[in-house]
Amino acid sequence: MTQKIRLLYFSRATRDMSLADMKDILTAARNNNSDLGICGMLCYNNRYFLQALEGDRKEVCELFIHIADDPRHDDLEILSFEYIEKPLFTDWKMGYASSSPLFDKLLAHMDLKEFLPEKISPRHGLALLHNLSSHQEEV
Ligand code: FAD
Repeated sequence: MTQKIRLLYFSRATRDMSLADMKDILTAARNNNSDLGICGMLCYNNRYFLQALEGDRKEVCELFIHIADDPRHDDLEILSFEYIEKPLFTDWKMGYASSSPLFDKLLAHMDLKEFLPEKISPRHGLALLHNLSSHQEEV
């Protein structure tokens, strides 16, 4: 039986990411992830990435190792790794959100003035991505 998992990690961009940079990442992600049956959500703010990857354990683990090698980010840390009954981000091969008034509002709920993923609990990290997934940017 294939086991479904959700992996949440954060990382630090090695340089400021432009919209074109994000487009490159998302295009690759959306193409590859459909073939792998992986869905998820990525956000970028304050030079940090926070990403959720959901799918079969083997595929998600392999993809994560591949992503971790990408020189566009470093200092990767896994925030959570859990077995799931069903994915939360089913509509999104890879959804995307960046800084916005909603993002600031969600951070304020967590008593944060800026996006510092190392200060966020796994539960809050997932809630943040889930909330942002219904207010995404077209990229
Ligand atoms: P290639 O495009 O040939 O890449 C070869 C290598 O070069 C890759 O290992 C990549 O790390 C690096 N690279 C590619 N483009 C650039 C660039 N513009 N600048 C510097 N280095 C570059 N991919 C997914 O498939 N699914 C995801 O969910 C996903 N999420 C990502 C999240 C983040 C935060 C980042 C930074 C990248 C993500 N990627 C994702 C992109 C992933 O790291 C690879 O670039 C992509 O999968 C294409 O890899 P490739 O080996 O097929 O192709």
